[in-house]
Amino acid sequence: MPVQTNNGDYMSIWNKRKINRKRIELSKDLNVDILVIGAGITGMTTAYYLRHEKNLCVIDANIVGNGVTLNTTAKINYFQERIYTKIISSRDYDIAKKYLESQLDAIDNIKNIIESENIECDFKCVPSYVFANKKSEVEPLKKEVSFLRKNRINVLEKNLPDKIKSYISFCVNDTYIFNPIKYLEGIYKILKDNNIQVYENSKIIKIEKSNDEYICYGTKYKIKAKKVIIATHYPYFLIPLFLPIKTYIEQSYIIVSRVKKDGKFTCISSNTPTYSCRFYCDKENIYQISLSESHNTAFKQNDSYHFKRVKEIFNLKDSDIVSSYTNVDIMTTDRMPYIGKLKDNMYIACGYNTWGMTNGVLASKIISDLVMGIENKYTKLFNPMRFNLSNITSMPYILFSQTKSFLGTKLNKNKDWYNRVKFYKKNGKNLATYKDKNGFNHTVYNKCPHLGCSLIFNEEEKTWDCPCHSSRFDIDGNCIKGPSNYDISYKG
Ligand SMILES: Cc1cc2nc3c(=O)[nH]c(=O)nc-3n(C[C@H](O)[C@H](O)[C@H](O)COP(=O)(O)OP(=O)(O)OC[C@H]3O[C@@H](n4cnc5c(N)ncnc54)[C@H](O)[C@@H]3O)c2cc1C
Repeated sequence: MPVQTNNGDYMSIWNKRKINRKRIELSKDLNVDILVIGAGITGMTTAYYLRHEKNLCVIDANIVGNGVTLNTTAKINYFQERIYTKIISSRDYDIAKKYLESQLDAIDNIKNIIESENIECDFKCVPSYVFANKKSEVEPLKKEVSFLRKNRINVLEKNLPDKIKSYISFCVNDTYIFNPIKYLEGIYKILKDNNIQVYENSKIIKIEKSNDEYICYGTKYKIKAKKVIIATHYPYFLIPLFLPIKTYIEQSYIIVSRVKKDGKFTCISSNTPTYSCRFYCDKENIYQISLSESHNTAFKQNDSYHFKRVKEIFNLKDSDIVSSYTNVDIMTTDRMPYIGKLKDNMYIACGYNTWGMTNGVLASKIISDLVMGIENKYTKLFNPMRFNLSNITSMPYILFSQTKSFLGTKLNKNKDWYNRVKFYKKNGKNLATYKDKNGFNHTVYNKCPHLGCSLIFNEEEKTWDCPCHSSRFDIDGNCIKGPSNYDISYKG
């Protein structure tokens, strides 16, 4: 999701990278045994685990690590708000226990990769706090802690070392932070050393089954593959996963500011409104990465308002702010990701509920084991085809929010927040125009090619955003994030 600031710098703190390598685009038809689509944390780590397999390649519509992984806060953490009590109520105690085990295993796995491969990615062990920012949250948070303690996790009751107001806070000491893009660049190098090709700026727009292989169509070339791994964050197809009725999209607002002292901890509130922060040091500066205002995209408001709230919550001074950006993730109704086999020789991983550093690595291990025919104890737990009671009980909320975002945009509500944006009809087509500061008009088709929702203009990041399933287009309508595979540029 490359979003540019006015001075030309990409916004995410992790995007301060120098890419000296040549990007290789797909320039001819290919025949491979295994194709990994998507080069975020999921796709790249899966390719890493499969690096000794024959005839494997990775393909990405953009460059390595330019999707959701680019804008993450990159905490590697198993103390995830109140996820375990939520899983107990949506599923049961044993499943929550297994989810905890899977997160601890994923942390071990990522630690092993980074340490054994000597990947320089600012990987550090720091304590992680979860705190109640409302009085009514104290008892639910205590229940979460009691679950963790029963499962032999050493959780301490400890005050937050910061100015953030909390009613109670707990901490664990064996959690980590890193720079996810340095990690992915490290994995890229290992893949290259193993002669695995990573194609960038090469989008897959359609996949068809033909006998015992898949034909994956790019914009110019096609790839025939025996096995396909879909690691694209939100898949573009509906069937057989039916993601729009099992999930919703959550958007959050992130501000990076310069600070004088490295806090050496991470923290997150146990429930909404989410307050979360961590620190990052590069050679020159120390940064605080603050996040808040998370919401279902169906209930999106003016982005400037949300960024203003983050500033207020964390008491951030304008002069210290380096960049601000949004990010989205897929939230599942039972708070468990969808990982595994979709159909014969096709695999998928998504729905990480904003915990994709652990779950992306977990997914990579499960899928690579499936591909190599190795038994994995988590295969059944995260089966992507599962349908359970939580899908039914959450259905009214999911349907309401999906209908709201679809009809809301169609009825032209919440769209004219900014007077530089106009929505109108021309020759029967719905169009939208943004007039930039220099008076130049940027016109796009006001219809997301994925499922037809109308778009919202994001004045802060200068993108056209789809509130239904989080497709994103740059100011001139070039698609920068799926599930849409097509642009909305208007050349009329
Ligand atoms: C605000 C926020 C903060 C977060 N913080 C944390 C955190 O601290 N810790 C944590 O564990 N998790 C966090 N997460 C979650 C985590 O960032 C994501 O779950 C994770 O990055 C998803 O990784 P991915 O590889 O599945 O997707 P992505 O990183 O989006 O990778 C998908 C790739 O697929 C490519 N692609 C898409 N469509 C196509 C196509 N048609 N053809 C070819 N390529 C395609 C894209 O270009 C992209 O590179 C956070 C999420 C949010 C929203």
